[in-house]
Amino acid sequence: MIRPTAAVAAILFSAAPALAWGPTGHRAVGRVAERHVAPETAREVAAILGPERLAYVGTWADDIRSDPAWAKAETWHFVTIPTGQTYATSKKNEAGDLLEAIARFERVLADRAAPRLERQQALKWLVHFAGDVHQPMHVGAREDRGGNDVMVLWFGDPSNLHSVWDSGLIDRMELSSTELAEKVDIATPDQVRAWQASTPLEWADESRAAADRAYVLGDRRLGYKYIFEQAPTLELRIQQAGIRLAGLLDRVLGARRDTAGDWLEELALVPAGR
Ligand SMILES: [Zn+2]
Repeated sequence: MIRPTAAVAAILFSAAPALAWGPTGHRAVGRVAERHVAPETAREVAAILGPERLAYVGTWADDIRSDPAWAKAETWHFVTIPTGQTYATSKKNEAGDLLEAIARFERVLADRAAPRLERQQALKWLVHFAGDVHQPMHVGAREDRGGNDVMVLWFGDPSNLHSVWDSGLIDRMELSSTELAEKVDIATPDQVRAWQASTPLEWADESRAAADRAYVLGDRRLGYKYIFEQAPTLELRIQQAGIRLAGLLDRVLGARRDTAGDWLEELALVPAGR
């Protein structure tokens, strides 16, 4: 066997962690949200986004990753909560994290005096983060960078657990984002109400619990059995992300705006002016 040079090894094993559901997952989240927002909210969204749509702006946060001006955003896509701790008790990343970023951009979006470009970007961030916070590998323990360091074989090809969850599982479904959104969006009105009444802190806790189940890997040769075991969770998380994004936007932009930001008080940790 040829030994990889140090440089090659660095590329192979220390590549920047993947940061999101793949494009299909993020688009499906936005599309589910479009199906659930109130008409008044949809009008506000259109006024802020112009010709763009919720179904497509969720990938902007990944598109800008190569822009040095946004290097500061790298840590906003995930949150680390060490085993046995909660977000409240955990040491916060001073560069920002997923929950802190949701709270921060929710405030910008709710501020009707803020410049339109800032509110537009805040909305794009929130569409993206609604997906990320429901991706089990984005609410991880510190040791393995959200599964990026957990090497697996995915249908025989070298991969890692984070990548399997970002895109491996979804790609194997061979559905467009429209089809995926239609397939997963099956909640009853009672479920929609209950899900929309929960907070991003709870969404993160659920992701953490789902991640624990996702780590049942056997011999790490993952394929159809892993899809069979995990696809229901994946579909539920995409669905919940879209429905809760709709609820968040209704709260911040629509008829329910009077209750905007209650969960921010609970967080009580949002640094001003980052
Ligand atoms: Zn992301």
